[in-house]
Amino acid sequence: MSQRIKIKALLASTETGKDVTVKGWVRTFRNNQFIALNDGSTNSNIQIVVDFENTDAALLKRITTGAAISVVGELVQSLGKGQTVEVKAKEIKILGDSDPEKYPLQPKKHSLEFLREIAHLRFRTNTFGAIFRVRNSLAFAVHQFFQERGFVYLHTPIITASDAEGAGETFHVTNFDIANPPKTDTGEIDYKQDFFGRATNLTVSGQLEGELGAMALSDIYTFGPTFRAENSNTTRHLAEFWMIEPEMAFYDIVDNMDLAEAMLKYVIKYALDNNKEDIEFLTQRLTEEEKQKPQNERSEMSLLEKLQFCLDNDFERLTYTEAIEILRESTPNKKKKFQYQVEGWGTDLQSEHERYLVEKHFKKPVILTNYPKEIKSFYMRQNDDGKTVAAMDILFPGIGEIIGGSQREERLDKLEQRMDEIGIPKDELWWYLDTRRFGACPHAGFGLGFERLVLFVTGMGNIRDVIPFPRFPKNAEF
Ligand code: ATP
Ligand code: MN
Repeated sequence: MSQRIKIKALLASTETGKDVTVKGWVRTFRNNQFIALNDGSTNSNIQIVVDFENTDAALLKRITTGAAISVVGELVQSLGKGQTVEVKAKEIKILGDSDPEKYPLQPKKHSLEFLREIAHLRFRTNTFGAIFRVRNSLAFAVHQFFQERGFVYLHTPIITASDAEGAGETFHVTNFDIANPPKTDTGEIDYKQDFFGRATNLTVSGQLEGELGAMALSDIYTFGPTFRAENSNTTRHLAEFWMIEPEMAFYDIVDNMDLAEAMLKYVIKYALDNNKEDIEFLTQRLTEEEKQKPQNERSEMSLLEKLQFCLDNDFERLTYTEAIEILRESTPNKKKKFQYQVEGWGTDLQSEHERYLVEKHFKKPVILTNYPKEIKSFYMRQNDDGKTVAAMDILFPGIGEIIGGSQREERLDKLEQRMDEIGIPKDELWWYLDTRRFGACPHAGFGLGFERLVLFVTGMGNIRDVIPFPRFPKNAEF
């Protein structure tokens, strides 16, 4: 008996006449004769042709949607449409039954909302098979991009005692009996008695530790889980998401932008080259979905065209100040169509503003730089104007912010002064400040939200559909 061959390889095979062993899950079984079998190696199914007259009726009954089966048969040229080869079954074994009365995933169209409720089974649909193969490719491409450039993959801690952004949106980590934590004399929770001897939380960003690595290894990147307890029930936020955070010594903000743009293009190209079939499928899916929308809300480009467009064009680079001017003069702002009016310099941009710039005004990815220091983090390098910092955000169509980064403040006095102004305790970040005391140098970095990248490349509309098991307010199922 031959060894099991995966369906992707089988469909590409020209060696008809040979016996093969193929295993997978039944998608459909038509006319007691044609099994569409899928094993997740590709979006396409292999057709298994059953000689039902010479097959036990009891066995035929067990070939149901969702069942796992093993088939030995001859690979033959297919007469049917849509496939070049098929397998003429000689022997079929049921590995795992699937009761058709109870199996939640019927061979029909299910809504994405319903599939989210059965996330343990949704991998078995064409859409989610494609999404997670693309996600896999993008993750691999991220590593390949940085490895090719000599970056060191650095593992920053998951449990930390610092809140990098100072935003306080953290998940606490404790070993206390939460109904009865030890208290100090003054009645506060006594974290000295906790596991780490201090209050700790799940990381919101690996950046500060990443910078420490860059101050010796030159170029590092992290790629790990990040946790934010922000109560944001949006299509772009998760409580647990994956972030890629490169930090580069001797980079200024322009080097930083160049690297970020090159990385995005590299990984998108990698997916286009290696996941052609999946992206074509997802393009079709999106086109179908958009047919439900009124004409003026449909995108001008298909998913495939959008991805190609992103590779072929330079991202638009402009300052926050220039962006505010454009937004202030924009038709939706004048007609009061924005939920948040753009009035003066200094306000933070809302997602609707970012998307206007990208989707309506420039019609391409945009890099915004030099934001007001008040709306950005303490570690961003202060510009000479005294008002702005060397920040850069990359905005993508349909997504808004996909990357947030900056040149970091390497001057100790400036950094300490900013921390004092905002009230960030310097003693807690003594180790971070040490890198400004010993061999400080210009450096820069950014954070890419991995799921936002996957959203863009798959054309999906909700971030909960591009991570296997999404974590969001009131949900930690699976
Ligand atoms: P936003 O304004 O969209 O909430 P942010 O300014 O909080 O983003 P950063 O702190 O700069 O984001 O994080 C870097 C990147 O991480 C963002 O550009 C985005 O791609 C991603 N990101 C941030 N928060 C989330 C989240 N809750 N879920 C998924 N991705 C996120
Ligand atoms: Mn945020």
